[in-house]
Amino acid sequence: MTAIGNSPASRDKAFVLHPYTNLKAHETQGPMIIDRGQGVRVYDDSGKEYIEGLASLWCVSLGWGQERLVEAAARQMRKLATYHTFTHKSHEPMIDLAEALLKLAPVPMSKVFFANSGSEANDTVIKIIWYYNNALGRPEKKKILSRLKAYHGVTVATASLTGLPNNHRDFDLPIARIQHLDCPHHYRFAEPGETEEQFATRLAENLEAHILAEGPDTVAAMFAEPIMGAGGVIIPPETYFAKIQPILKKYDVLLIADEVICGFGRTGNFWGSETVGMQPDILTCAKQLSSGYLPISAVMVNEKVYQAMVAESEKIGIFGHGFTYSAHPVAAAVALETLKIYEDMDMLNHVRSVSPRFLERLTALGDHPLIGEARGIGLIGAVELVADKETKTPFEPAGMAGAKVNALGHEQGVITRAMGDRIAFCPPLVIGTDDIDEMFDRFTRALDAAIPVLK
Ligand code: PLP
Repeated sequence: MTAIGNSPASRDKAFVLHPYTNLKAHETQGPMIIDRGQGVRVYDDSGKEYIEGLASLWCVSLGWGQERLVEAAARQMRKLATYHTFTHKSHEPMIDLAEALLKLAPVPMSKVFFANSGSEANDTVIKIIWYYNNALGRPEKKKILSRLKAYHGVTVATASLTGLPNNHRDFDLPIARIQHLDCPHHYRFAEPGETEEQFATRLAENLEAHILAEGPDTVAAMFAEPIMGAGGVIIPPETYFAKIQPILKKYDVLLIADEVICGFGRTGNFWGSETVGMQPDILTCAKQLSSGYLPISAVMVNEKVYQAMVAESEKIGIFGHGFTYSAHPVAAAVALETLKIYEDMDMLNHVRSVSPRFLERLTALGDHPLIGEARGIGLIGAVELVADKETKTPFEPAGMAGAKVNALGHEQGVITRAMGDRIAFCPPLVIGTDDIDEMFDRFTRALDAAIPVLK
């Protein structure tokens, strides 16, 4: 056995199994150790400074070092550090947070269920959908629709909803009863000459044809992120949801808005649902709910869904679902304080005031020789790297160019996320225009440095 060195990097390699990492490459390459954060910046263990262009993983809306959140956690820790919420037990942080979320909901919602992650929230929803249809005496109505390039999580069921090959391949997924429909990305999937409007119409027609082919009595629900995040920040055509929602209604198919990234101001409205005109029956959120400071997620259900759940739990004696840490009081207190800070800072107005600069700098990248499309809304966006701008031909092998540019970005002091050959931007919502400029200046230097390597 070789001796394990004493440095954090050697001990990381010796002891840690990393999520979303090439495990073999990690054995030689080792970790990038992030030591501290302040504002929109983080610092590695050598002291090098980075602008966090993805707010960790799309979540640290308030940036690092928010003392009010630290204090809220400490206060709650001292008062009631932990307690469960099974079997009628409750506590005020949960009650207050549920009330606050229902007040903020984009459409009337009835009740809130809490979990710890986006995956757990969406997994809970899958079970609620099946429970709901059993309650209504429709045991066949169980199929769930998702979309190619969707991201809804990594549990067995939510990885199945996710429409990305790496989440299925060699995990023996997807599970049965989950189906993937068209991705609403005009740049990649429109037919030659097809307008956004025509593209949206075609996707809606495909949806209806799919429901009819499967049998409307077998199709229960459709999940959708308002703006698809991890699939590449994909903004649907303007009329997309207006066209698909009547079809879902016609066949009594529930619509679930996965607001795990879009919720809490990211797209320039409080909810992504408002930005794209979704009227969901169920909504999930996480991440910016607590500014990522502690793990917490929420599921909001409307009265129709809730009433069926009540009837079923009365019939069988229980809604037999919940997590030890559902509505953990400390996470709930931090989430509540996060919502208060959004209000005190008028976060939505801040996002709207800096978003034009963000979008101006982002779309300017569309002129770069390596970029096929630059797209964004609010404070979220992505650039798509292509080998040939005219023909939109991707680089070979897929993912190589994205990884390269992302690594060059790190050298320049900007952390972004490569999703294949798409690079995402999703900085803390508190970012100012100077740091937006600095972030894009650094990224442009990385792109320029990539030209001789990739061309
Ligand atoms: N849904 C969306 C839209 C997400 O972006 C994510 C994570 O990035 C998830 C669900 C899963 O959340 P988690 O990683 O907290 O399980």
